Amino acid sequence: MQENISITKDQINNEEMSKKLLEKWTDWKWQVKNTIRKVDTVEKILGIKFSDEKKKEIETTIEKFPMAISPYYLSLVDSDNFENDPIFKQCFPNTKEMILSSCDMKDPLHEDTDSPVPGITHRYPDRVLFLVSSVCAMYCRHCTRKRRVGDIDSIPSKEVLLKGIEYIKNTPVIRDVLLSGGDPFLLPDETIDWLLSELSKIPHVEVIRIGTRTPVVLPFRITDNLINILKKYDNIWLNTHFNHPKEMTKESSAALKKLAMAGIPLGNQSVLLRDVNDCPRIMKKLVHKLVANRVRPYYLYQCDLSEGLEHFRTNVGKGIEIMESLRGHTSGFAIPTYVIDAPGGGGKIPVMPNYLISWSANKVVLRNYEGVITTYKMPTNYESNDCDLECDKCNLELDLEGAHKDYIPIGISKLLCDYEDDITLVPQDLDRTIRNTEAVDDNE
Ligand SMILES: *Cc1c(COP(=O)(O)O)cnc(C)c1O
Repeated sequence: MQENISITKDQINNEEMSKKLLEKWTDWKWQVKNTIRKVDTVEKILGIKFSDEKKKEIETTIEKFPMAISPYYLSLVDSDNFENDPIFKQCFPNTKEMILSSCDMKDPLHEDTDSPVPGITHRYPDRVLFLVSSVCAMYCRHCTRKRRVGDIDSIPSKEVLLKGIEYIKNTPVIRDVLLSGGDPFLLPDETIDWLLSELSKIPHVEVIRIGTRTPVVLPFRITDNLINILKKYDNIWLNTHFNHPKEMTKESSAALKKLAMAGIPLGNQSVLLRDVNDCPRIMKKLVHKLVANRVRPYYLYQCDLSEGLEHFRTNVGKGIEIMESLRGHTSGFAIPTYVIDAPGGGGKIPVMPNYLISWSANKVVLRNYEGVITTYKMPTNYESNDCDLECDKCNLELDLEGAHKDYIPIGISKLLCDYEDDITLVPQDLDRTIRNTEAVDDNE
């Protein structure tokens, strides 16, 4: 089957692009309908040609990991230098995706394991990930949910969405719901409105977050109608996914501006990708462009251990080098948190250079971004409130009804607090524990 996309790169870049053509081009539904899924079409649009052998390899890759590119996103590729193009690398299959590394996993983040009902991952105490769509405008080659890409069977039905909403409704600890997918903005306006209104009705849901890459790959999706829907809700945050400064086009800027003008706080989650953005200068340029568009860099992710991503992965040192090149060198609010999402569902773990060099009873020794080593003297008479969780008797005013009841310390913070007796965190199946338990059993 031939794809008949009638608009080519030359026409798009032509200043005199006819009004009618432009109308189609900027219609997100036209973009979706004309999603590029065939190598032939990419060749035609970019004016390039792969050898028969190469093409066959690419097609085999597509059979395992499907390709889908919005005409808009493909139009950003520099066809004269496509092999090095960061846009091309994010959207066009690399035959290296077929190489499975020994550490690759289908579901490295245990999103399916930590799932109480289909579509929901409840990992952290107070928030959930809710996969509400399995469709995307562009299939990122570095997708962490590569296992599901193009899988029609995993399109959540209304029943599945209702079960998810029901779970959230019945779980009062959830105060933050993260809508992701797929891309929630590939859902019809009505479905988005319905989802937001259902979630907004739940009293304990304080915040709704939307994760969408449409401002990057399909900026025309941010229509006035969508904005009007979003504006009805006053607790929405939005995270998008720019990886390279080249992606910040005038179309993307316009989409972000609409969202920012609607009062929605904007964040960005980048993935550190080999030969795409693993460079301090590129990352600095990217974060500057983001904040200039009122987008706060939120996370920089170490690339996950999902199948077929080995060629995208960098070593962690590169990420730390990038963080070193940002802190102090540029605006603090332009600096993301670099995280490794722990395989096995451990969640996001921040990683950064060390700034605390040493300490004594009354001083800490620190170093700054210039390499200046300095000391901070601690107060001599600091007595931390010995906390027994009796907030009513505390001299700090915690005048929030029942607030201390919400505060259930776990993990390391539990080790630090005064009112719990735990002094250690011990792995469950420690050799010596097993040995000693067996010895006790034998003696009985
Ligand atoms: C990333 C993630 C969240 C949100 O984490 P934040 O650090 O609050 O942004 C929640 N649930 C899951 C399963 C996640 O992967």
